[in-house]
Amino acid sequence: MIINGVKYPLLTSRKVKLNIQDTFNKELPADPIFSNERRQVEEACYSFVTPRVPSNPTVIHVSSEMLHEIGLTEEDAKSVDFKKIFSGAELLEGTSPFAMCYAGHQFGNWAGQLGDGRAINLCEVEHKNRRWALQLKGAGETPYSRTADGFAVLRSSVREHLCSEAMYHLGIPTTRSLSLSLTGDQVLRDMMYDGNAAYEKGAVVCRVAPSFLRFGSYQIFMARKDKDTLRTLVDYTMKHFYPHIVGRETDDYLHFFQEVVDRTLDMVIHWQRVGFVHGVMNTDNMSILGLTIDYGPYGWLEGYDPDWTPNTTDASGKRYRYGNQPNIALWNLMQLANALYPLVEDVPALEAVLKSYQQRYPKKYYTMMGDKIGIITHSELDMKLIQQLEESLQLTETDMTIFFRLLSDINPISMNKKEALEIVKVAFYNPLELGDKVEHEWLSWMKKYMQRLSEEESSISDRKNKMDAINPKYVLRNYMAQLAIDKAKEGDYKMIDDLYQLLKNPYTEQPENEQWFAKRPEWARKKVGCSMLSCSS
Ligand code: AMP
Ligand code: MG
Repeated sequence: MIINGVKYPLLTSRKVKLNIQDTFNKELPADPIFSNERRQVEEACYSFVTPRVPSNPTVIHVSSEMLHEIGLTEEDAKSVDFKKIFSGAELLEGTSPFAMCYAGHQFGNWAGQLGDGRAINLCEVEHKNRRWALQLKGAGETPYSRTADGFAVLRSSVREHLCSEAMYHLGIPTTRSLSLSLTGDQVLRDMMYDGNAAYEKGAVVCRVAPSFLRFGSYQIFMARKDKDTLRTLVDYTMKHFYPHIVGRETDDYLHFFQEVVDRTLDMVIHWQRVGFVHGVMNTDNMSILGLTIDYGPYGWLEGYDPDWTPNTTDASGKRYRYGNQPNIALWNLMQLANALYPLVEDVPALEAVLKSYQQRYPKKYYTMMGDKIGIITHSELDMKLIQQLEESLQLTETDMTIFFRLLSDINPISMNKKEALEIVKVAFYNPLELGDKVEHEWLSWMKKYMQRLSEEESSISDRKNKMDAINPKYVLRNYMAQLAIDKAKEGDYKMIDDLYQLLKNPYTEQPENEQWFAKRPEWARKKVGCSMLSCSS
């Protein structure tokens, strides 16, 4: 096969047998031009492209769960065919890879056409009645690469691979990652955008999700007043991913929007629960399936701080800070409402759906926070207790993960408030000064909290089990990912697997891994890659 002037070897793999069932590139309009030349692509949802052949690919990690989900085995993953397919070296016979066309609002501003600048969809696979799109990220140029090179570097690829799988095991809707490969090629990056460009190892991640459609995939057709393609794409999305809606209601499109709103709300509540900060919630990074997508300069709250953002590109406005994520999700949904308007043509109805987000968010948030602190029978009064806790957490720069995990060890019957405070104070980065105002604040909260717990009917062990099932013991702390990256840069990939294994059971006590249940070391406080990340990836 020859695409874009490149003669492609077609692989009839005996090893890697996938049940390929493409829909996106069969049912939706394609760009008629077969070239990688950067261009505006109109009246089309994607452009056919081929991955760039890497010079010396090596698979350095595979997610065994994801492998099984698409119907492959560990044996398959060790094959040369696997390496070739998932690094972009060869194409599976019968597949027609493509890059998706989309637009988006970046940092609140309309950015026009963006598209998959370095992501290439290989094919869709059906296994166990589930549909999966397989996509290589970092596999070379596309018509949407704009001024960039189409590649990805090892550091960002390790972060995407590990975090996608960690989020999945935390029970958070997310795109997944099948494999992480080195390409053998060097990629030039100016990591901190300060004029110090350097070569880094190139890598490719094979991402997996039912679909990689984003809010921006719909926005582009609204912006171009292309109602026909918009309708075709929304119909496709509903047919494959929201089939329960189709034909059930007269207002299918509105119903579809309501479901996207609900899923997005659920996703954001999960982020707030575990202290995940996405970092670049642009509308092109918002999945139409309510999945966490595009792991770039994300981070995990260490000290609980609603104003924290890991993204140095966002340092001045802090638009994407932890505490603002629910608002931004709503803002993004509003842009999606605008995009769907030509199909719905009913402003009050769309506004009512957006309003439902605003009305439900506080209730869902306080219920989630109530669950985190072990309050099962929620009441309005608990809101005050939670708000006071949010304030206290900031007085001592408190490690969010450690604090909530230890909280389940508090016994309101056998302990007094000082003993209870002793339990959680290991989570404080700023130690308490005995007898000062901050200690007083904490003791005041603890007293109210213990009083509240004693009104609960469930047993202490019951409560602990429930709390430990939603307050993770292990998350991918920013410095942990960086340690694994530093090792990987030297050719040692063991830590990638160690972290991957650890994060498969984030809610389970793992005594042999207690070293990862610790506050961020002081060296990581301001280190690039740990607390400061740019969009360069
Ligand atoms: P992001 O916000 O990182 O998801 O990326 C925004 C846009 O830039 C998307 O259209 C990406 O495909 C594109 N992009 C990011 N990095 C590259 C790259 N190295 N080469 C080509 N396109 C890129
Ligand atoms: Mg993106």
